Order: sequence, then structure tokens, then C-alpha cells
Amino acid sequence: MSKEIKYNLIVKKEGQPNESAWSEEIIAIVGDVIKIEGHGKSLVSFFNQTLKKGEIKRDFVLATPISEYAEISAKLKHDWQKKSLVTEKGGYDIYKCSNCHATGKRYGVSAFVIIDYKFKKLENECPNTK
Ligand SMILES: [Zn+2]
Repeated sequence: MSKEIKYNLIVKKEGQPNESAWSEEIIAIVGDVIKIEGHGKSLVSFFNQTLKKGEIKRDFVLATPISEYAEISAKLKHDWQKKSLVTEKGGYDIYKCSNCHATGKRYGVSAFVIIDYKFKKLENECPNTK
């Protein structure tokens, strides 16, 4: 099982005060036992082990979830593929999930695909029949 995590990783240069810390947005698909703090620490550790010339080691300060969706299962998400060659009358594009074949529409530049009514029961969960 895996899940998507989305959080702000607060880091600072090694040995510098916390006031100098900055935030980086992290989005990753990880195993379901991974917590954002552990993930953030391992990112910093990896950075420190792979320093490029001129880079300074970093210290992990904090990891804070970005939204209530910080820990949703990656397996339950539809994999929306655009099916419209051109935008349909009504200003939407047709999408189809490559996992379960549910269809939906995305209006304008909205980031979200709205699932079609006949697939309504799959709205929050992809059965992932692939
Ligand atoms: Zn699906």
C-alpha cells in the first residue's frame, strides 16, 4: 500500500539559527508507514550526502502537513487521462481513468476532474481494476 504525502519541509543551513529557516513544499508517493517527519529527515540526510560543490549541509527543522489531504492513499486515486482532442461545447474536456474506466469532465483550467454521474459511487475511490 502507498499514499501521497504533501507537506512543508522547514530546513536551515547547518549550524544556523532557526530564524534563518525556509520552507519547501514536498509532494511524494511513499509507503503507508512513512510519516512526513521521517520522510523530511531522510530528504535532508540524502541532500547532505550528495552535496554539490558550493552547497552547505542542511539541518531538518520541522515538517508540517499542508492540508487535510496530507495522507490519502495513492492507490485510491483515479488516473485521469484526457480523451478530448479539442475542448467540447460547454467548455470541458472529457477524461477517462486508465485504472477503472470511469469517465469525468474537467471544466476550463480547473485542476479537478468531476466524475460523471453514472460513476458517482467511485467519486472518492478508484477500484483500480487494472
Ligand atoms: Zn479510476
